[in-house]
Amino acid sequence: MKGKVWLVGAGPGDPTLLTVKALYCIRKAEVIVYDRLVSKEILQEAPDNCRMVNVGKLPNFHPIPQDDINDCLIQFARQGLNVVRLKGGDPYVFGRGGEEAEALAELGIEFEVIPGISSAIGGLAYAGIPVTHRDCASSFHVVTGHLKQGKDPLDWTQFSKLDGTLVILMGMSQIKHICQQLIDGGKSSNTPAAVVRYASRENQQVVTGTVADIARRVEEAKVTSPALIVIGGVAAKHTTLSFQATCRHIGELVESESDLIK
Ligand code: SAH
Repeated sequence: MKGKVWLVGAGPGDPTLLTVKALYCIRKAEVIVYDRLVSKEILQEAPDNCRMVNVGKLPNFHPIPQDDINDCLIQFARQGLNVVRLKGGDPYVFGRGGEEAEALAELGIEFEVIPGISSAIGGLAYAGIPVTHRDCASSFHVVTGHLKQGKDPLDWTQFSKLDGTLVILMGMSQIKHICQQLIDGGKSSNTPAAVVRYASRENQQVVTGTVADIARRVEEAKVTSPALIVIGGVAAKHTTLSFQATCRHIGELVESESDLIK
């Protein structure tokens, strides 16, 4: 009996942003090892007898060491089970999915990757922010505010030279410092900025401003992680391009008549 692991992206939050392939895999899973940012509604798609393992860290709690997560996947696969490793967004965008895949590959355990919609792009779209609007940006740069322990901190001034949209994940605890460094590096204080919390979920919040005042605005609005920080002209498009998502329920879309298109 040979087990297999599917590294699956759950998308940014709205359960209906799951891919058809991901939904199929979840419905066939024998074990699901999932993160904190995966929507409950997606987890409910698992079969009744599926074992559910939560390896997500809660704020202020120590995260489960990556090695333990890798071991958990390995053990289940070795028991011959179909294992779904379900991660928020895309499994290879800052989710340490690459490390999990390497651990499996090293031991010759079969695996497959099902990409998901990353919050860095899809999450922004739900906030009315087109990541590369032609008027504002010809590139976009997705950066983490949270580096591997022991690595030198990022020199944010170097990003001020880039013309494209800057999307920062896991940067909320450092937002003041990041924005100040961008300005110190030469970014104009008027550059539009936005913070999007819980992008694509029902409780999505968006705060807009400029690189000079976004940190203060976010503090005033008490908006915290998990959130995306966007710096660049596209952030200002939120005002005109925000929309209400029509449907956020898998059952409604997949099994019955939806009001998505009337
Ligand atoms: N693999 C994920 C990113 C994992 S890192 C992806 O592709 O989206 C976790 C960080 O992603 C969070 O701290 C936050 O900065 C961002 N993030 C993920 N989902 C989010 C959401 N729905 N809204 C806002 N930020 C989100």
